[in-house]
Amino acid sequence: MKGDFPVEKFQDIETPFYYYDTKLLRQTLHAIHEELERHPGYCVHYAVKANANPKILRIIRQSGLGADCVSGGEIQAALAAGFQADRIVYAGVGKSDWEINLGLDRDISCFNVESAVELEVINQLAARRNKTARVALRINPDVGAHTHENITTGLAENKFGIAMKDMEPIIARIRTMEHVKFVGLHFHIGSQIRDMEDFKALCFRVNELQDRLESQHIVIENINVGGGLGINYDSPDEEPIPDFKSYFATYARHLRLRPGQKLHFELGRAVVGQMGSLIARTLYVKQGASKQFVILDAGMTDLIRPALYHARHKIENLSSNAPGEVYDVVGPICESSDVFAKSITLDGTKRGDLIALRSAGAYGEIMASQYNCRRLPIAHLSEEL
Ligand SMILES: *Cc1c(COP(=O)(O)O)cnc(C)c1O
Repeated sequence: MKGDFPVEKFQDIETPFYYYDTKLLRQTLHAIHEELERHPGYCVHYAVKANANPKILRIIRQSGLGADCVSGGEIQAALAAGFQADRIVYAGVGKSDWEINLGLDRDISCFNVESAVELEVINQLAARRNKTARVALRINPDVGAHTHENITTGLAENKFGIAMKDMEPIIARIRTMEHVKFVGLHFHIGSQIRDMEDFKALCFRVNELQDRLESQHIVIENINVGGGLGINYDSPDEEPIPDFKSYFATYARHLRLRPGQKLHFELGRAVVGQMGSLIARTLYVKQGASKQFVILDAGMTDLIRPALYHARHKIENLSSNAPGEVYDVVGPICESSDVFAKSITLDGTKRGDLIALRSAGAYGEIMASQYNCRRLPIAHLSEEL
C-alpha cells in the first residue's frame, strides 16, 4: 500500500522538497488534546527541534501546545510563531550567556538546568537584570531507552542532566540563591521509544526521587518527563497517529503526582513525524557490478537520519506500478554513507519517477545542510498546493 499523495500537483514542483500533510498534523494534534482532556494536570510542550518550519510551528501553537526549546534560536522561532513566553521551557547542556539572557528578558516559563555550574551562571545573569529565573533540574535518571545508542539520553554515561546523587545538594544551593526559584524536576530518556516499559521505568524512578525529596519536605510544582514517544517508520499508513492513549495512560497508571502537581511532556517526533515526506526525483537507475542503484536528487543533506542513525524510512515510487525490483536507493552526495536504503523492493523505477521517503516530518528539514554547496530543501504544505 502506498500513501495518498497529490501526485499530479507534484509534477510541476522542483524536487527535492518536503511535503507536509497538514490535515494529518491537525488530526494528530486533535488526538493529543483529546487525551489531555482525559488527564487534567497534564501539559504538552512541543519539542521545536523536531521541526521548526514557521508554518508548522504556527499550526501547533494555534492548537494550544506550549514549546520546548533547546537553544536561543529555537526560543526566537517559538516567539515568532506566537508561542507565549510563559508556555516556553528551555533545556540544553550548553546554554550560552546570550541564550540565558534572552530567556530572562522574555520571562520564559522554565530553564531546565543541566549542571551546578550552569545554575550559578543563571543566578548571576538574573541578578544583573534583577529577575528571578524559574528553574527545574534536569536529572539523569539512569534509565535506558531501548533505541539507537545515538538517541538515548538518560543513561549515566550520557552528557545530559544532573546525577541523582547531586540532586539534594543542588536544591540546597538553590535555596540560598536570590535570583533562582526551584520549580521542578525534568527528565528526558531518549527518542523513538516504542516500548511503554521504558516510560514505566522512568515513572518508577520519578516516584522514588519524589519520595526521597518529600521525606526532606521539599515540594515540587512540576514534573517534566520529556518526550521520546516513537512512530511507526515501517508502516506509516497503518499507524499515522501514534498511540497517545497508551502513552499518557502509562504515566497515569504509574507516576504518582502530588495534589496540585502538574505533569509536563515534551513531544517532538510523535507530533510531526508522520505528516512529512521527502519527495525526490529519480535521476538515474544505474546498473552496478552486483546490484542496481536508484540515484535520487535528494541526499543526506536533505534527510540525514539514515546516514546518522541507520534510520529506515519507508520508500515508495509514486510514479510506477511496474513489477517490483530490488534496488539500493542512494543520493548524489560525495559520501559513501549517502544511502537511504539497501536492497529494498520498489515498483520498477526509471529516470524521472517521483519517490517518497515517508515519515520524514521530524528531524528532516531542520537537519538539512548545504554540504556540497547544495540548496536547502523547500517545504510545501498540503493545504497550500
Ligand atoms: C529532543 C528532546 C525532546 C523531544 O524528543 P522526541 O523524541 O522528538 O519526542 C524533548 N525534550 C528534550 C529535552 C529533548 O532534547
